[in-house]
Amino acid sequence: MKYIFVTGGVVSSLGKGLAAASIGTLLEQRGLKVLMQKFDPYLNVDPGTMSPYQHGEVYVLDDGAETDLDLGHYERFTSGVLSRMNNLTSGQVFDAVIKKERRGDYLGKTVQFIPHVTDEIKSRIYEVTNNNKDVDVLITEIGGTVGDMEGLLFLEALRQFALEVGKDNVCFIHVTLLPFIKAAGEVKTKPTQQSVAKLREIGIQPDIIICRTEADLDEDNRKKIAMFCNVEKKNVVAFRDVDHSIYECPLDLRRDKIDRLVVDKIGLGHTPPPALEEWEKFVQRVIHPKHSVTIAVAGKYTELQDAYKSIYESLIHAGAAHDTKIKIVRIDTEALENQSAEEIIGHVDGILVPGGFGDRGIEGKILAAKYARENNIPYFGICLGMQIATIEFARNVCGLTGANSTEFDVNTPYPVVSLQEEQKKLTTMGNNMRLGACESILFAGTQTAQLYHNADRITERHRHRYEFNSDYQDQLQEKGLVISSVSAKEGLVEIIELPSNRFHIACQFHPEFQSKPNKPHPLFSGFINAALEKKMREEL
Ligand code: GLN
Repeated sequence: MKYIFVTGGVVSSLGKGLAAASIGTLLEQRGLKVLMQKFDPYLNVDPGTMSPYQHGEVYVLDDGAETDLDLGHYERFTSGVLSRMNNLTSGQVFDAVIKKERRGDYLGKTVQFIPHVTDEIKSRIYEVTNNNKDVDVLITEIGGTVGDMEGLLFLEALRQFALEVGKDNVCFIHVTLLPFIKAAGEVKTKPTQQSVAKLREIGIQPDIIICRTEADLDEDNRKKIAMFCNVEKKNVVAFRDVDHSIYECPLDLRRDKIDRLVVDKIGLGHTPPPALEEWEKFVQRVIHPKHSVTIAVAGKYTELQDAYKSIYESLIHAGAAHDTKIKIVRIDTEALENQSAEEIIGHVDGILVPGGFGDRGIEGKILAAKYARENNIPYFGICLGMQIATIEFARNVCGLTGANSTEFDVNTPYPVVSLQEEQKKLTTMGNNMRLGACESILFAGTQTAQLYHNADRITERHRHRYEFNSDYQDQLQEKGLVISSVSAKEGLVEIIELPSNRFHIACQFHPEFQSKPNKPHPLFSGFINAALEKKMREEL
């Protein structure tokens, strides 16, 4: 296996994850089998316990790992399906070392940062290598910024690792920022020089430097960076601000032939240039679509760009498939509680209620679902959004006044969404959720089954504690709610729909974790199709 390590310098939020993912795309399109992973130097064992305000979305993998949102980019930009082995945090590293120490595994030695902690980090790369023998290239992104104290052990581990596997098998890529100083009218390379100097101090000489820049990177600056960062000029690569879509990133990096530089460094130069036609077509459909729809996303963290990352990306994928631009309006559902729904969401072509925890804004979401149902506006509920649709239907169609989820009202007379009995005994945060891929059965003849091309079984990723309470199933079904899917093992309700509406579908799982640029998720695709149809009918 060959290794690419991607570090970041100068500032955070440089798009290092996107750069790493884009390199993944380019190498995969050269015919190589690529696997990606992320090392995060923070002390949380995983981001599952972090607020979206802190860390954006928690991205869930098939095996139930709750990971950094960059893993979402990796899965969308490459075809590799990732596992919990692909996201390592300092929390996990120290946890493992302390457990070994307590077990006496270190045989009386003094346990130290070097070699014990660095060995633990390296062992993860070796383990991933051993478990993925068919993979050609492993790309590892190191979170944080070079110069941070908390990243030092990871960098030291990588330095050692490169020596152990042979430097020819490793490519170090450093992503930095070239700030433009307006007053001087100049792009500055000094922060890049200093950040590379910091890396070299640790013993890592980057092979390629990716420079994030608003505009282009001129010859003079390329020369300067090459000279003072000790790399060849051709290995100084520009990574420009893309105009419209993150999916342009691989195409931008390709302009300086980054994939060629990488394969030459790690001895895979015989591979053909990347086949990017499909990707380019996809990008064109994203940038210049024929149609457009307006979708309201009624969530709690609407002001945060990253909190519903995968949902926004999935909407873009589905939009591209329908040659449609998605205009997103982010609805603060608390506002819905005080203003008329007509005013706030009367103009939209579709309403999406995403996942969430806690009771803030819940009544507003229920109002949004009601407005969608009554006005035949496409409604797509995801996880919490399905629980909301269930509560709304129970209250307003079945007359179960006060129906609720026990997450929001433990004393509700009609707990139409509740915890499964056995789950009630678990109290530790972080380990009592239904997490990861679950198989479910689709019922033939439903709208949903049709969207899934009449598949009879599907596998989708979960992250939730509460469930549709089957005690109320008959009552809801009598009034027209259709259950379109149940989990294969426990028979838990996975998807509901209202056949009387053009699209009123909600699922307990998170379809947004399985949507890809040229492979939109069937439910997102169906939702956008319905929104487009509604809009076109109104324009007739
Ligand atoms: N809070 C709900 C639950 O725990 C929904 C979770 C979610 O939307 N991810 O079941």
